[in-house]
Amino acid sequence: MVATRQSMSIGFVHTRGTLDHYVAVLRQKPEMANTIDILDISLLDLTKPLPILKVKSLLAFAANITTLSIDITGISSRQARLLIKDIKLDSLIAFSTSTLPHDAAALFFVNHPRIVSLSIGICTEHSGSCDLLHVPRLQLLEEIRGPAACSVNIVSSQTRTIAVSHGTANECIALFAGLRDTNAVVFTLDIPFVHKDVYILIQGLQALPTVSALRLREAETMNSTSYKWLHNQLWNTAFRRMHNLKQFELRTSTALIANPGAMEEERWLIGSWKTQLQANGRKVEDQYGNGILFELKPPVPVKNRGEKSCYFS
Ligand SMILES: [Zn+2]
Repeated sequence: MVATRQSMSIGFVHTRGTLDHYVAVLRQKPEMANTIDILDISLLDLTKPLPILKVKSLLAFAANITTLSIDITGISSRQARLLIKDIKLDSLIAFSTSTLPHDAAALFFVNHPRIVSLSIGICTEHSGSCDLLHVPRLQLLEEIRGPAACSVNIVSSQTRTIAVSHGTANECIALFAGLRDTNAVVFTLDIPFVHKDVYILIQGLQALPTVSALRLREAETMNSTSYKWLHNQLWNTAFRRMHNLKQFELRTSTALIANPGAMEEERWLIGSWKTQLQANGRKVEDQYGNGILFELKPPVPVKNRGEKSCYFS
């Protein structure tokens, strides 16, 4: 029932049958729950009715877990609130869910202020007033993955790593401002972008001068090939101002240059960015000590574009 790795025990509950088995065994031998450190509940595409109360009793048994991942497809806000009501996991430091509505997550966080690592799913609150905007900050939170707009009031002065799953440029910039207000020293940032807003985002990043690793991730595929990354001083200005930037990753399906496939042109462009990073005094060598500062995948033909990445590291 429980997979054990050295001193770490992981409980996997991925089917209704496994859930039934867990609860039945723990009712017989509740002390077995103390051996579980990590609980991974992933009940996807179950037929209705959902076994909410059974999951709740499992959580009540597993009161000593440090890590909880919970995903139940189709769970409603009412069911989610019922599920987490009165659940208090005193040792919990890592929590992940992609299906729990944010109003229920907000209630859960009130009882779990010691969460260090957090991942939340998309927001289903469309009135512009997500409940996560009204919970006390998670004061120990070091890393978060979630929508920018819903994360603003959760991040803390301890937050070092942020992966924005969804968010407009303005929502990201509001999040950056929130981080600045908490005096968070953010090192790693992973944010989505749409092309029309990318420079707004880059300028907004100046609010976070401590970032040393930045990933910009294209949030939507461009239908046009007209966008080019070439000849843009804003990149160079941004790199100059991001004094601690050591790693930069750009993930885009758009051609970097006007003539996709012109390797030299592409190398020149990336070389100019590299120069800016070097100008900041950063000298980072590759594992062979050759000082190679970027890797570039072969250019993808326009007619069959895929995702392209380039790295400074
Ligand atoms: Zn939300």
